[in-house]
Amino acid sequence: MIRLYNTLTKSVDPFEPLRDDGVRMYSCGPTVYDVAHIGNMRAFLFPDVLQRTLRVIGGYPVRWVMNITDIDDKTIRDSAVGSPRWRSEMGEQTTDPLENLRRFTTFFAAEFLADLRTFGIDVERVANPLATDYIAQMQDLIRDILVAGYGYISDGSVYFNVAAYSATHAYGRLFAIDTQNFREGVRIDADEYDRESVSDFVLWKGRKEGEPAWDFAIDGHQLPGRPGWHIECSAMSHDLLGLPFDIHTGGVDLRFPHHEDELAQCTAGYHVHDQAAFWMHNEFLEVEGKKMSKSLGNFYTMRDLVNRGIHPLDVRFAMLQAHYRAVFNFTFDGVAAARTARAKVQDYVYDVIAVAGDHHAAAEDGAGQRLMDSVGQALADDIHTPRALAALFVFISDHAPRTLTPHDAASIVDALRRLNDVFVIVAIEQRPEQIIPDDIRVLADERWAARTAKNWAESDRLRDVLTSRGWTMKDGKDTYTLEPVD
Ligand code: AMP
Ligand code: ZN
Repeated sequence: MIRLYNTLTKSVDPFEPLRDDGVRMYSCGPTVYDVAHIGNMRAFLFPDVLQRTLRVIGGYPVRWVMNITDIDDKTIRDSAVGSPRWRSEMGEQTTDPLENLRRFTTFFAAEFLADLRTFGIDVERVANPLATDYIAQMQDLIRDILVAGYGYISDGSVYFNVAAYSATHAYGRLFAIDTQNFREGVRIDADEYDRESVSDFVLWKGRKEGEPAWDFAIDGHQLPGRPGWHIECSAMSHDLLGLPFDIHTGGVDLRFPHHEDELAQCTAGYHVHDQAAFWMHNEFLEVEGKKMSKSLGNFYTMRDLVNRGIHPLDVRFAMLQAHYRAVFNFTFDGVAAARTARAKVQDYVYDVIAVAGDHHAAAEDGAGQRLMDSVGQALADDIHTPRALAALFVFISDHAPRTLTPHDAASIVDALRRLNDVFVIVAIEQRPEQIIPDDIRVLADERWAARTAKNWAESDRLRDVLTSRGWTMKDGKDTYTLEPVD
């Protein structure tokens, strides 16, 4: 039984898919005006681990959609003629703002997918539709909202009437809104607005000179323009998943206004009480205890870290050591510790595979079941990845490879393969062949002989020589192994 924290109910509730053909899940994706930073990566890692847990531990098929916001204030600003953010890889700028927008966002959408891939996110399983491919669906929804009496046209734009909506519906189901600050009649055109005030938000923005625009016939008017940000997720999730679907995810900052407004739009236009059964929000990432920001000089993209010699999966591992509902404090020490811990798991995998040899066994059929149970329980408890990893380490220290029968080792390999399909932290494969230089082999043999003869001083001296030459000698019962110094 999987239990998940639901922002709608403010409690950890048992999860069951609404339909028996599997789980339908929608995640608010990136605005493709820049390369994703590691805070964004946390927001994309969370739904990845969630869908993997639902599949591997829950046994459910999952349909996962993460939209790409390729039209908003920032993509328009940064793709405009003369923008300093235009790059030669995007080609030449044209006189058509929509074509410029396409070239600009296509470039950053490809960068985004490449980052997801290096970060172990399941790009094969996630659909990444572009907002600009769903303009017709957004227009239909805006018309429906108007017909239902919750929208109005003003100065060539269309707005959502929050006062009319809240007279008959709860506004603030996801995020406690202080209606004291409700500013009736105040209209907000920006895609992002202040959390402290509630105002009518824009559904469709009238065309501005030099900006991309689409024709829009509504209620006898012609209103060329472009969609607001919130409407895209309502229309796309409705079109791609059907309402209500099972789980909607995003960062905590999206609870209000973005998600609250998505939900209001769906209720107003599609006449559903719920857009999604569960709403789940990941907390933020900080760097060395501070908000990550360019001005503080603590702002990193995944590539910045790779350029410093950091492996993306060490960052993934470090992030998994925090629960998604807790703030994650990114530190370079933390990533170094994650690297050591991850190497320990990888080493264990290699050793257990070696013990298993040609044997095959399902997890259920041996010692692997205990591993599946302990790790699976933690994951099923609101995706508690820190407890799940702790359970993995307890298991590793309780099941040393040399104490295992080949059958149990094979069963553990099967469990590790399945759990790694959630964590994505190691490679489930044989230890790669090490090419050990002849002179190192000679030194190691000499040391093994000294050790066998209980000549401890000589044995220690030769071990130090090997270490200084870059090799760690590990003593087994009957033989030794050599590994490159980490
Ligand atoms: P954006 O591309 O700005 O629309 O952001 C994409 C996602 O990244 C949103 O779900 C945000 O909630 C999330 N996000 C932005 N900054 C952070 C951060 N520092 N930590 C965690 N998530 C973040
Ligand atoms: Zn969204």
